[in-house]
Amino acid sequence: MDEPTLYRYILWGFLVVAALTFPALFFITAPYGRHEAKSWGPTFSNRTGWLVMESPSVLVFFACWYFGGCPTDAASLGFLFLWQLHYVHRAYIFPFRIKSGPKRMPVAIAAFGFAFTSTNAYLNGRWLFSFAGPDRYDSAWFSDPRFFLGAAIFLAGFAINQQADWILLHLRKPGETGYKIPRGGFYRWVSCPNYFGEIIEWLGFAICTWSLPGLAFALWTIANLLPRALSHHRWYREKFPDYPPERKALVPGLF
Ligand code: NDP
Repeated sequence: MDEPTLYRYILWGFLVVAALTFPALFFITAPYGRHEAKSWGPTFSNRTGWLVMESPSVLVFFACWYFGGCPTDAASLGFLFLWQLHYVHRAYIFPFRIKSGPKRMPVAIAAFGFAFTSTNAYLNGRWLFSFAGPDRYDSAWFSDPRFFLGAAIFLAGFAINQQADWILLHLRKPGETGYKIPRGGFYRWVSCPNYFGEIIEWLGFAICTWSLPGLAFALWTIANLLPRALSHHRWYREKFPDYPPERKALVPGLF
């Protein structure tokens, strides 16, 4: 089987697994962070888990760019910039900013994350820098409204995600491991603005690339983070009797 055929199988498989995972995650909450559980086998530190899970996003996507002939047209460099802006932070800076204390992550969760980010980076990188072909993202794409509208949406989502994570990561004083009610920024409206921002980012990337792999990643992000936001929201309401009643879970004003 040649690589483009294998690629198509992987892409459709990726979409099918997203469609199956979405309903399942309403019943199973991934056991890390506040939803930590002991029954998921061997564990390692949260920090190691994040490094393992997110590194393929940086490395595989970069390898796709490199083995795709290091394209230096404006659109290709734009895709590379947006992707690495998010993932260099997520893989190599975020794990050193978390203050989770002794919290552990199941190796199984990190292994699933590793498989997911490797596949996702391959599907997006290989499409953008090789399989799309030289005419798909030529220099005109850089001035196409889809490119700059999508990039602007991505950057807005990135700003929301960063601000929300910054607020969370500053709630604990040195040595603290408990939870507090986050306030300010988009927390005025929702319990999980970091997830909301992340979803906006990848919807923006899907528009910017106008591609099936970009759309598949955005759908995966929703499938993963919407059920988790609802779990976080329920958890906040149960834990804090004074939790702001008007706050929604994920999307301001809606749900
Ligand atoms: P959480 O919001 O659950 O936690 C983020 C960090 O803040 C953790 O270190 C957590 O500590 C701490 N924290 C959270 N809430 C509180 C609180 N109320 N008081 C004190 N500290 C708090 O996010 P995730 O860990 O699930 O995700 C982290 C980032 O990764 C997010 O930006 C998210 O968007 C992104 N992500 C993206 C995914 C995707 O599919 N693209 C999938 C999963 C995450 P603790 O660990 O102790 O709970």
